[in-house]
Amino acid sequence: MITRTIAQVAEMANAQLSLPTNDSILVKGVTIDTRKIQGNELYVPLVGTNVDGHQFVRQAYEQGAAASFWKKDVPNPPADIPLLFVDDPLLAMQQLATAYRNQLDVQIIGITGSNGKTSTKDIVAQLLSAKYKVQKTLGNYNSQQGLPLMLLSIEEDTDIMVLEMGMSALGQISRLTQMAQPNVAILTNIGESHLEELGSRENIATAKFEITEGLSEHGLFVYDGDEPLLQAKLAEQTPSYKIKSFGMQKDADVYPISMNLVDNGTTFTCNLLEGAVHLPVLGLHQVKNTLAAITVATHLGVSEAEINQQLASLQLTGMRMETIDGIHDALIINDAYNASPTSMKAAIQLLDELDTYEKKIVFVADMLELGKDEVDFHKQIGAYIAQTSITHVFSYGNLAKHITDHIDSLQTNQVTQHVLEKDQVIDKLLQILDHNTVLLLKGSRGMKLEEVLPSLTK
Ligand code: ATP
Ligand code: MG
Repeated sequence: MITRTIAQVAEMANAQLSLPTNDSILVKGVTIDTRKIQGNELYVPLVGTNVDGHQFVRQAYEQGAAASFWKKDVPNPPADIPLLFVDDPLLAMQQLATAYRNQLDVQIIGITGSNGKTSTKDIVAQLLSAKYKVQKTLGNYNSQQGLPLMLLSIEEDTDIMVLEMGMSALGQISRLTQMAQPNVAILTNIGESHLEELGSRENIATAKFEITEGLSEHGLFVYDGDEPLLQAKLAEQTPSYKIKSFGMQKDADVYPISMNLVDNGTTFTCNLLEGAVHLPVLGLHQVKNTLAAITVATHLGVSEAEINQQLASLQLTGMRMETIDGIHDALIINDAYNASPTSMKAAIQLLDELDTYEKKIVFVADMLELGKDEVDFHKQIGAYIAQTSITHVFSYGNLAKHITDHIDSLQTNQVTQHVLEKDQVIDKLLQILDHNTVLLLKGSRGMKLEEVLPSLTK
């Protein structure tokens, strides 16, 4: 993490030190949350709509913070606390993060996309740690606040930092990529999340493509070659950076040749490697994320043998196609971390392809934040499920009801039920689950489908 004197911090963040202050005070790390203070941090008081962080500056200092930013136009700065006066604390923190990044001998890998950022981040970090000292974004710290905090958490001896970049509007990825200045940029895919704010898939593609704006001149851009909108974006450019696409189709630079579902994972071959690799995580979309990761790892000199070794011990951040031993020996796939039409279809497709199970159950909840066509998106999922080998569909939430209603209207043989409370599903499932059953949990974060798990696991 950043370790600099307060005078150095002031220079890097373009801040003015309060007087009298000992300019050799050492700052170790940066925090925006007084509850996370361990000692000697720089506290950054963010000014939110409900809370103004300036009211916690004293508390931060008493808990051990070394110094604090202070927004110039906020009255009554405390005279006894080392302060760094700035125009805007968030901007100053971002500026500090970029200055710090530029002082380090580190390679940055930036990842954006509608789905799969965290999964791809985990896989990339896992593969690269065969050869390098790697750090990665903690949890979901991928925002205008989270990303600079992640940059400021880089250790001096870290070789590679893998950063997730998130957005909900045009211009946000642009700022993040200029802050982080990645050497490698990965664009996992274009989906439908944030359609509400952005209006069209074209705009989503434009917003994600901004990641190239901060990419270093001779860097590498790795993108979803199955997405025509990205091909179109690239056709408008004459970039100095290198480009590699990954995808399921053979016109991508990196693509799978064969894929087999084996032991709750996928064994696959691809045109970049000689032999087969085993990915111990379910889902074809995870194969795609792995292709992106293999592209980057190979670019940075990781060998095929190392890739194999590293994948063997891969674990993704929780609730992303997580396989769990369920009650009565059923297999439960917990993908309840989040849901969009793309990731919903990907998960259902996987269930459809799991041939060894007689009963295939999906418990679906609402996909949120989809904008004015939200009902249609849910009906489309119903239509999609209707043509699969899924045997039972339970829905929870007002939007998810359209999934089961639509299946009913198509008069398939599938058993469907809409429930008003999550608990209502548990009794039903306890009757159905056995060793021939696979159950998928899938819904948006706000729907918290994982709450049924304790009753369904051993
Ligand atoms: P967030 O925007 O919430 O941070 P994320 O982009 O980090 O999401 P993950 O957390 O990796 O994405 O995965 C979110 C969901 O999308 C999971 O349900 C996962 O199984 C699914 N998913 C992961 N990768 C892909 C992909 N390439 N295509 C479609 N769905 C995917
Ligand atoms: Mg994420």
